[in-house]
Amino acid sequence: MTLPYDIAVEQSAAPVSDERRAEILADPGFGRYFTDHMFVADWTPEQRWHAPRVTPYAPFSMDPASSVLHYAQQIFEGMKAYRHPDGSIWAFRPEVNAVRFQRSAARMALPTLPEQLFIAAFEALVRTDAEWVPDGGAERSLYVRPFMFASEVFLGVRPSQHVTFAVIASPGGRYFPGGLKPVSIWLSEDYTRAAPGGTGDAKCGGNYAASLLPQAEGIDNGCDQVVFLDAVNRRDVEELGGMNIFFVHSDGTIVTPPLNGSILEGVTRDSILALADELGYRAEERSTSIDEWREGVASGDIEEVFACGTAAVVTPVGVLKWRGGELSCGDQAGKVTTVIRERLVDIQFGRADDRHGWLHRLV
Ligand SMILES: *Cc1c(COP(=O)(O)O)cnc(C)c1O
Repeated sequence: MTLPYDIAVEQSAAPVSDERRAEILADPGFGRYFTDHMFVADWTPEQRWHAPRVTPYAPFSMDPASSVLHYAQQIFEGMKAYRHPDGSIWAFRPEVNAVRFQRSAARMALPTLPEQLFIAAFEALVRTDAEWVPDGGAERSLYVRPFMFASEVFLGVRPSQHVTFAVIASPGGRYFPGGLKPVSIWLSEDYTRAAPGGTGDAKCGGNYAASLLPQAEGIDNGCDQVVFLDAVNRRDVEELGGMNIFFVHSDGTIVTPPLNGSILEGVTRDSILALADELGYRAEERSTSIDEWREGVASGDIEEVFACGTAAVVTPVGVLKWRGGELSCGDQAGKVTTVIRERLVDIQFGRADDRHGWLHRLV
C-alpha cells in the first residue's frame, strides 16, 4: 500500500532480539516496554508539517528552554493495534482519534495535523514494528501513543513556532492486572478535573497532571481510581481521570453524562452508545448527580456502573468511597457490563461482525 506521505524509514541497527521480544510479549504489563522504532514529524509556520520519518526509538535531545517544559503546550492520543486470528493487524476507528487530535490541538493553540498524516504515521510505525503486535490472547495488543508538543526554544508566552509530532508504541496486556475485577473509586470532593471553558474536552497532559493529586488521595483511601464532579455545582458526575462512566439502570437503560465541554469525548464511550441498540439496551446521554448515584444503587434502580476507555476497555466499578462513607455497586462484573465489554472486544479482535465499519487494516 502506498502512503500519501513520503515517510522515510530508518531501520534500527540494534533491535531487541527475538528471544527478548518474545519474553516481553508474554507478560508486557502496561506502558513499560517500547518497540524498536518511533515516528516523528516537525512543524514550523513556514514549512508546515515536514520530514515525516520512522526512526530507531531513542531519547529526544531537548533544550532546557523548550517551551513544553515550561508551559505544557502538549496533547496526546491513545489507540491500539489488534492482531486477528489470521495474523492481520487492525486499528479501531483511528479516524475518530485523528479528528479528536485536531480538536485537542486547536484548544491548545497547536497546529492542525492532517487526518491522513495521523493515520499514515500509525500505519508506518505498526508496519515497521509489526512483530511487536502480540497475538490477541488475554486481550494483548500494541498500545499506540501519538503526541504533539511545543519544541521551540523560547521562554516567551505564545504558541510555539516549532512543534514536534511523534508516535511511540508499547505492547500491553490488561490495563488493570486483576482481570475483570471491579475497581474501587474515590469521590474527589476537594478537587475538580475540568471547568467550563477549560481544557477538559482536550486530551492534554495538563489534565492528567492535575488529576494526580486527587488520584493519590484516592490511593491513600484504598481506591484504584477517582471520579470527578462538575466544577460549578460539585454535583453531577463527570468522569474518571482517564475514563468515561456509564450507569446501567434496571429498565435496561444505559446512561452516560452528556458532552458538556468539560468531559473528554471517548471513542469507547461513543462506540458503546452506538452498540447499545443492537444489544437491546436504550442509551441516554444525561446527567447523573452524585446523590442520584447513591440513591439509585440503594433503591436498586442503578444495577451496574462501569468505566470505559481504550486502555481498560470496559471496567466494572465495584465500590464508590468518599470521606465518611462507601457504597457497594456490585462485587463482580454485572451482566450488562460483561455483554457490552465482550461485544466491543470481539469486534476489535475480529471475532464479531464489524457491522459499523470501525476496523481499519494496518498490516
Ligand atoms: C482518553 C480519555 C478517555 C477515554 O477515551 P477513549 O477514546 O475511549 O480512550 C476518557 N477520559 C479522559 C479524561 C481521557 O483522557
